[in-house]
Amino acid sequence: MAPALTTLAEDERLFFDSVYEFAQREVRPLVRDMDESAHMPRALIDKLFALGVMGIEIPESAGGAGATFFHAVLAVEALSRVDPSVGVLVDVQNTLVINALLRWGSDELTHQYLPRLAAASIGAYALSEAGSGSDAFALATRARESGDGFTLTGRKLWITNGNEAEVFIVFANLNPDAGYRGITAFVIERGFDGFTVGKKEDKLGIRASSTCELIFEDCRVPRANVLGETGKGYKVAIETLNEGRIGIGAQMVGLAQGALDHAVRYVKERKQFGKTIAEFQGVQFELARAAVEVEAARLLVYNAARLRETGQPFVTEAAICKLFSSEVAERVASLAVNLFGGYGFVKDYPVEKLYRDAKIGQIYEGTTNLQLQTIAKHLLG
Ligand SMILES: Cc1cc2nc3c(=O)[nH]c(=O)nc-3n(C[C@H](O)[C@H](O)[C@H](O)COP(=O)(O)OP(=O)(O)OC[C@H]3O[C@@H](n4cnc5c(N)ncnc54)[C@H](O)[C@@H]3O)c2cc1C
Repeated sequence: MAPALTTLAEDERLFFDSVYEFAQREVRPLVRDMDESAHMPRALIDKLFALGVMGIEIPESAGGAGATFFHAVLAVEALSRVDPSVGVLVDVQNTLVINALLRWGSDELTHQYLPRLAAASIGAYALSEAGSGSDAFALATRARESGDGFTLTGRKLWITNGNEAEVFIVFANLNPDAGYRGITAFVIERGFDGFTVGKKEDKLGIRASSTCELIFEDCRVPRANVLGETGKGYKVAIETLNEGRIGIGAQMVGLAQGALDHAVRYVKERKQFGKTIAEFQGVQFELARAAVEVEAARLLVYNAARLRETGQPFVTEAAICKLFSSEVAERVASLAVNLFGGYGFVKDYPVEKLYRDAKIGQIYEGTTNLQLQTIAKHLLG
């Protein structure tokens, strides 16, 4: 008989528990300071590498954990339950950057970059620009053939991990006359001539996760650093983002569960009218409804991840899980703020941050409307 959707294999359960235990021990004490300073200490990032969550799918022969996409989803959920900023750092590293390299990288590229990504280097994934977000393939960054390689000119915006990353997957158009069929993916290193990391954004939520502009001024890129084929970057982008979206679903499930955990703990302590507020049926029912939503979101995320893992169609399910989980995260974090009362509105307690963090789930890796578009397309044929 097939197992329940939430039944984890023994190694998956141990992995989830060890990452969550790490998050409680190493991340939780830093959450408030990282949010206020909008900075993630390198010492914490080093511990994430040591834990083995920065190269989850990289083969052991290249220094990685040799685990699965599903493990990556579990790591993002477990970390986001404590801090969604740490969750997204790990998510981008695994579900976008490493995933794209494993899938599309030549032997030369994988030999060069996977051991570095497993050991100490952070990756970033740069598609969006000031003028092209939902309409990603309208990107204006231009690649030109030059000598034995290419030069890139243009600017990327909103790039997660931009401040810390050393390896960037960057999309540029090599042949604008061919429209999206000119888009090509390149692997670019922080030290390449003509490449600088620009302004870091000051954000509403996930403040410890850096979001930066990238500037390319005749940036020279060797021919070997084309990821996949020239003119096939649109395929690299679509296919990795389809998968990455499941990671964002996991980030939002983790966030929602974290907010619910805080709320459950608090209502058992807070007394009004001579009893704990947990004793009021009105409070119990709100929490019960939130628990239903979190469970439903988790089922959708795990199902999409299992479909992807077993090579079955998953694109609609990925859109469904990302859309639903991000809405659940916002609702549950909002409820947690309400149940904390005035204490929910101040920074001395953890839930106002989760409420701010939740908002991003409906924006990045395809806004809610774009997920609805994918689902409607599937529905209507
Ligand atoms: C914190 C953060 C981190 C990010 N990280 C990365 C990253 O690492 N790499 C990267 O490449 N990008 C990243 N992004 C960019 C992100 O993916 C885009 O912001 C997102 O795709 C939306 O694009 P936009 O901001 O241009 O909004 P727009 O596309 O301008 O959308 C504005 C509004 O219009 C709606 N809309 C647009 N088109 C349609 C349509 N056809 N039908 C109905 N409604 C529509 C949208 O749903 C939205 O509500 C990040 C963004 C943020 C804020």
